[in-house]
Amino acid sequence: MAAVRGYRRAAVAVAAARPGGGGPGRGTGPGPGPAAEPAPQPVPEPAAPATAALYVHWPYCRKRCSYCNFNTYVVPAVDEAAVRACLVREAHTLLRLSQVHSITSVFFGGGTPSLASPRTIAAVLEAVAGAAHLPSSAEVTLEANPSSMDTSRLTGFRAAGVNRLSIGVQSLDDAELRLLGREHTAVEAQKAVEAARGLFPGRTSIDLMFGLPGQSRDAWAQGLEAALGLCDDHISLYQLTLERGTALAAQVRGGTLPLPPQDLLADMYQTAHTVLVAAGFRHYEVSNFARKGALSNHNLSYWRADQYIGVGPGAHGRFVPRGEGSCSREARVQTPEPVAWMREVQSQGHGTRSRVVLSPLEQLEEVLTLGLRTDEGVTHELSLQAVFGVPGEAQVLQDQGWLLLDGSGLRCTWAGLAVLDSLLPDLLCQLQRRWALPGAHRGGTRRGMDTDGHSGQNVGSVSGHNG
Ligand code: SF4
Repeated sequence: MAAVRGYRRAAVAVAAARPGGGGPGRGTGPGPGPAAEPAPQPVPEPAAPATAALYVHWPYCRKRCSYCNFNTYVVPAVDEAAVRACLVREAHTLLRLSQVHSITSVFFGGGTPSLASPRTIAAVLEAVAGAAHLPSSAEVTLEANPSSMDTSRLTGFRAAGVNRLSIGVQSLDDAELRLLGREHTAVEAQKAVEAARGLFPGRTSIDLMFGLPGQSRDAWAQGLEAALGLCDDHISLYQLTLERGTALAAQVRGGTLPLPPQDLLADMYQTAHTVLVAAGFRHYEVSNFARKGALSNHNLSYWRADQYIGVGPGAHGRFVPRGEGSCSREARVQTPEPVAWMREVQSQGHGTRSRVVLSPLEQLEEVLTLGLRTDEGVTHELSLQAVFGVPGEAQVLQDQGWLLLDGSGLRCTWAGLAVLDSLLPDLLCQLQRRWALPGAHRGGTRRGMDTDGHSGQNVGSVSGHNG
């Protein structure tokens, strides 16, 4: 399903110049030859800011949707008190380990976190506020499923500290909802969004899916119009992808269901862009649209390469474990299976399954890959000209109208955003080639992304799906 789930930004640690080389801005024209060209290089900066976003994974659903391969479990009964205690304990542990002093946003994703009780949400937020500063203005989002968000639950979530909802509407057509294996009907989704907007005005997002088997362009356009009549100021759109092992993939592979052809999918995406932009939305990321400034701060922190901490089964994180004396940014993944995760948290305070120090090149690759998802692109804290302003793949892509490189940084044109996945291999190739130049591997740190460590991205547990 969710073909695109969100992620991070910019301030690229791509070099202004090599030590002993030219100054900032050098390399804007054809270079003097590989040996003399400026190589990408992190620039020394003060230590990374001690702030982070925090993701919390609730790993349960009542029923598995036909397209879903997320880290979620359908179990007869959930020992919520035990899960709550483990989420609180792991949050404490990881916050202490990261030594962040302030949490910029919190996102409860899943699974279906609206199945958790407000008490659990409150307990986690209290733990966060007890271990770090959680400003009252911080965005606190909860993913909600229309089938588990009656008004009293929503009121409870708001009292617990949630101030933004992301609702997995997916479709406003009952036949499509049945195909997707959703628990709710279109009318229930409408009522849920209306109730949410009453309690979270201006801070209610909806998820929609397109590219469903048998879906026509007209059906999608009608669905979009219906969604526009219902929605608040934020919409996330996801193209259905067939994930291995899902019921829907089996049906399509078995020939029971057709999939829309690629040109129809592109047409649907273009239609969405046109309709939503005409309705006043900013297409600020590949899959995300907002108006009146209602961008998702939490997801922006991924796309901007800020630190984030992942709590809960299978959650991903990117942060520097300064509590261990480290100054290296790590990619961390928590143990996916809830029972095993709880055992680990109970015995050692956390369920971190893997931790990998990311190289400076890997940092840059993530910054590029994720930053280009946004309309602001990869910004120009350092000179991108050194890497992409020289003859190579990026210039070809600029000449073809997919990319822009100017004083504001490197970003996709609208046309380029629609085909970003096909542009990235060439750009990464150019980055890797430039990185291999002499002198490219020295340097210090930069804000938000230690060069001996890393920046953050979270594929598996980032928001933007649909609980
Ligand atoms: S509600 Fe979301 S996480 Fe749960 S099964 Fe459906 S798509 Fe997957």
